[in-house]
Amino acid sequence: MPESTETLIVGGGLVGTSLALALDAAGRVATLVEAGAPRPVIANGEDDDRNLALARASVNALQALHVWPLLEAFAGTIRRVEVSRAGEFGRVRMSAVDAGVDTLGRVVPGRVLGAALQQRLDACRNLQRLLPAQLIALAPRDSGWRARIASGNGERELDATLLVGADGSDSLVRQLTGIGAQAHAYAQSLFVCTVAVDRDIPECAFERFSDDGPVALLPLPNGRRGLVLTIAAARHEEVAAMDDAAFMALAQQRFGWKLGALSRPGKRFPHRIRRVLADALTAQRTVLVGNAAQTVHPIGAQGFNLGLRDALTLAELIAASDDPGAAPVMNEYATRRAADRDGVLAFSHGLASLACLPQPALAPLRSLAMLAMDAVPPLRHVLARHGMGFRGAPPAAALERGP
Ligand SMILES: Cc1cc2nc3c(=O)[nH]c(=O)nc-3n(C[C@H](O)[C@H](O)[C@H](O)COP(=O)(O)OP(=O)(O)OC[C@H]3O[C@@H](n4cnc5c(N)ncnc54)[C@H](O)[C@@H]3O)c2cc1C
Repeated sequence: MPESTETLIVGGGLVGTSLALALDAAGRVATLVEAGAPRPVIANGEDDDRNLALARASVNALQALHVWPLLEAFAGTIRRVEVSRAGEFGRVRMSAVDAGVDTLGRVVPGRVLGAALQQRLDACRNLQRLLPAQLIALAPRDSGWRARIASGNGERELDATLLVGADGSDSLVRQLTGIGAQAHAYAQSLFVCTVAVDRDIPECAFERFSDDGPVALLPLPNGRRGLVLTIAAARHEEVAAMDDAAFMALAQQRFGWKLGALSRPGKRFPHRIRRVLADALTAQRTVLVGNAAQTVHPIGAQGFNLGLRDALTLAELIAASDDPGAAPVMNEYATRRAADRDGVLAFSHGLASLACLPQPALAPLRSLAMLAMDAVPPLRHVLARHGMGFRGAPPAAALERGP
């Protein structure tokens, strides 16, 4: 006899676990299936595969989910952002003061965030967790799906009213429910590590573009910086094989000397970059969230921020519905997420295409555009608000709370 649940969340990455927490807080029954082993709780996030820049809306949301207190001690603060391009004269500067807020965003090591979310999951009362366990097959039913799930103890069947694909870029939920996807390889790789700098400008995030792609330095709380260095994919093996001195020389040449000498790199993590866009966000009694719905270029630091807003919007709709898999809920979800998704996709892809590609003829225009944005406060304000995650119809949990 199959077991049953209301919402089956496939994938317990950052977005799936956020959704599980939000549903539990709303008192709704759900099951979370995650293929990977539990994340170790780590006390020091210095050697992490990515440092996530969290938009202000995401910090608000993590506060609402009671996750933020577990992260605060590990979080760097962004009060200013400076975007520039090597060899061109324009630059865009945004500041929290100009935007009328105390911070533009925060930076946390990805695994610390994962461990904090998981710690909160332990206190959930309406959530069943299957881990490590994997969705392997789906069969449609009149009022939902029957999922086949494999774990070390064998296979089981689970009926759900609503199926959520939070299973990442190569989503099996997406494939099994017949939602197509378009993939685009950027022919770029990223190398991520932490570094020390000689002359820090605290609480300022830097992003510098060049013909070879962007390089970012994010502020971390321990006086170090999170380095994200993009290179052409053809150089992946060469850069991966570099010793620390050669890698630092490359990073220095790409970022310049704004913060003095870069040194003492931590462990280096390589990532190959691609964009994967689902053709639709929903199917019959199915919703995609996070990377399963859209995997964007990390250049704009938007992937998790966007996925969190997916998860919280969905949780809001489920909480207000007697039948969370019903067509009106699916339609409402797709409608509510459209503007935010389209905006972030255009921003991330546009940034990747325009700012990274060697198009000398565009250089003066790029510089002028940057100068214009820097000089015209309302433009900068819009950019800052979008960067803070307030675009379209944000979920209530992401909004500012009064004192
Ligand atoms: C270098 C780098 C830097 C980044 N920086 C930022 C940033 O600064 N800000 C930001 O917002 N975003 C950033 N991102 C993007 C962000 O990391 C991702 O968007 C986010 O982690 C996606 O989370 P997810 O839960 O949707 O997907 P995933 O993390 O891919 O999780 C999917 C989960 O599903 C599980 N799974 C898969 N198949 C199954 C199955 N059949 N059954 C059960 N479980 C399954 C997997 O084990 C996995 O745990 C960055 C990305 C990279 C690569």
